[in-house]
Amino acid sequence: MKITFLGAARTTTGSMHLVEACGKRILLDCGLYQGHRKEAFEKNRRLPVEIDARKIDYAILSHAHIDHSGNLPQLVKAGFRGKVFARAQTCELCDIMLRDSCYLQRRDLEYVNKKRRREGKKPFEPLYEESDVDALMQLFVPTHLHEPREIAPGLTLEFFNAGHILGSALVQLDIRSDRGRSHRLLFSGDLGQPNQPILKHYEYPQGADIAIIESTYSDRLHPSAEDVEGRLKGYIDDIVQQRSKLIIPAFSVGRTQQILYYLNRLLAAGRIRQVPVYIDSPLSQKATKIYEKHTGCYNDEAMRLLNSGVNPLTFPGMQFVETPQQSMALNDLRGPMVIVAASGMCEGGRVVHHLKASVGDPRNIVLIVGFQAEGTLGRRLVEHKDDTVKMLGDEVKLEARVHTINALSAHADKAGLMDWYDGVKGRVKHAFAVHGEPDRVKMMADLLSEHGCARAVAPVEGQSFTFD
Ligand SMILES: [Zn+2]
Repeated sequence: MKITFLGAARTTTGSMHLVEACGKRILLDCGLYQGHRKEAFEKNRRLPVEIDARKIDYAILSHAHIDHSGNLPQLVKAGFRGKVFARAQTCELCDIMLRDSCYLQRRDLEYVNKKRRREGKKPFEPLYEESDVDALMQLFVPTHLHEPREIAPGLTLEFFNAGHILGSALVQLDIRSDRGRSHRLLFSGDLGQPNQPILKHYEYPQGADIAIIESTYSDRLHPSAEDVEGRLKGYIDDIVQQRSKLIIPAFSVGRTQQILYYLNRLLAAGRIRQVPVYIDSPLSQKATKIYEKHTGCYNDEAMRLLNSGVNPLTFPGMQFVETPQQSMALNDLRGPMVIVAASGMCEGGRVVHHLKASVGDPRNIVLIVGFQAEGTLGRRLVEHKDDTVKMLGDEVKLEARVHTINALSAHADKAGLMDWYDGVKGRVKHAFAVHGEPDRVKMMADLLSEHGCARAVAPVEGQSFTFD
């Protein structure tokens, strides 16, 4: 059995690992790089050299986030015709997210190609079209939690809850080698925070001897969830008093629903005044509908709300913004108002024009609630090194206050990661730290060693490991 780390190796996006076993070639995740637009585009334009798409037998998807799923249509375009195993919720979310990815690419390319044509260069093609997404959707095999499935002789797949976003899974692969030796490989995908709102907690599958573990926040401890509501309340009281705006850049899937949940709770408890809350993203609207449909994935607290007649993701004053014209019109309205808009790292999407219109006013607040990759506008806002930031081609004075709530992260912190590892490590001999910036995967590998792992490694891109 051989594992080759093709993506998310010493970086936080582009999750892709190749497992070769029992005569089959299996991709664990097939994600796109995200981050600074130009660099990400260059990296995503080709599949890793190790991959001949026609020779990949299966893809197994931990969850629908684009940095885990977004390269699948390109794989199909390059000739992949195998099955894609994922939970049913992931299949539904991929359908909307990958189509959105096509739209974002078209929009970004318009800008890039205008420049290339001016420079006399050949225009770039999009990575894939909606027809590739259509073809991919035919290959999905919705797979339930806790139902072992023999996907090939000697290869058994089972999904467990990862508690990260709707449909997110821990991937367990049982591999029986030709020589009669067996391995159990456990891949964390992205691990949710313990006790996060809405979704059930991650699980601790037993018996793995090889583990691949994400490291996004191996360097920090998030503040407690109680703090999130207190701080959100503080910001909302502030914008009510100042008649100003609270802009929250948020990923459409996962983070947006968490924010809705917290705002709903604050309002229901009478802790904040009702203010207009605009969810400015068609993708967020579609994703929220999918969240509302799969109540079987909800945790006890969300179920209690639901059973008491409260939809945890809807409240008075909240509205979805559909067209770009409606989105632009928000710039002319007076506060108080909350605008939750994509993209989460502020690299594109409607949030950028809201930021451009708002950051010059010191009464406004920008609230960062998710991971901001290096080189992104979101990271520049968080670091706040300069007085101005470049947005949509212009230097804009940064007067608004920028706050960060890390507890809203959909990723486990150091304590969560190690809690999970301690719960699954019984037989683990080899552990691989992936999905983190270079210092964080290194830190994760050190932590795994401290917690008793005999061989903990932070692999580099393209590195392979063979197991008898
Ligand atoms: Zn994720």
